[in-house]
Amino acid sequence: MSELLLSCKNIYKSYDDIPVLEDVSLELHRGEIVAILGKSGSGKSTLFNLLAGLDTADSGQIERKVRVGYMMQKDLLLDWKTVLDNIALPLILRSVPKEEARATARKYMPVFGLEGLADRWPATLSGGQRQRSALMRTWLYSQELMLLDEPFSGLDALTREALYEWLQEHKEELGLSILLITHSIEEAISLADRLYILKGELPSQVSPSIEVPLAESGTEAEYILERESLRRQIRAALVGA
Ligand code: ADP
Ligand code: MG
Repeated sequence: MSELLLSCKNIYKSYDDIPVLEDVSLELHRGEIVAILGKSGSGKSTLFNLLAGLDTADSGQIERKVRVGYMMQKDLLLDWKTVLDNIALPLILRSVPKEEARATARKYMPVFGLEGLADRWPATLSGGQRQRSALMRTWLYSQELMLLDEPFSGLDALTREALYEWLQEHKEELGLSILLITHSIEEAISLADRLYILKGELPSQVSPSIEVPLAESGTEAEYILERESLRRQIRAALVGA
């Protein structure tokens, strides 16, 4: 197994009197895309905030071995900055000189499908372009590890599927390691190498790691059956059955 980048062990978290997470443990290694799947209100963003270091757990341990770039549920592009300056922002915040930061950002824009958009205002972008800009900004902050909280949930189905394809095509070239938080079974199955489920009613517990079957592992028919069986297993776990 490749290098461990992020792990949490026995995490408990409550807000006032509401226990949200109970005994949550998981890990992510270099080169993996791992999904955390849970229905609305199951504590996904709570876990995300803990893993990103934006909030503290009541108990348990979190280990971050590398810098963590995170993208919150809303893309949070700054309306008064150009696309280029939005994307270059994490470098500027890390004291990279402005022109160098801009040059680096420009260099990677075509890879993220943002060619020709450097001088546009965020308000003039399509939903998919906004998400790719936010994704690229996160990636420039940390090329080692990205935490994405429901990154594609505000998009229409076609744009979403185009982004899934883009991510699959570029994940090796960009050296991506991603923890993807989502309520979408299809998103988790399409993108992740393996997944964890936040199960049942609050406080949520996490399932053991579940591998997503690879397309190359058998015949087309076997692959379709395996995925359907995984979908059923996930649905059952999501409702706590
Ligand atoms: P998800 O992202 O899976 O939809 P959240 O992590 O946002 O779920 O929320 C999980 C639970 O924790 C919900 O019941 C929510 O109301 C509660 N919660 C989240 N953030 C706070 C907070 N800052 N203060 C109090 N309760 C919160
Ligand atoms: Mg959330």
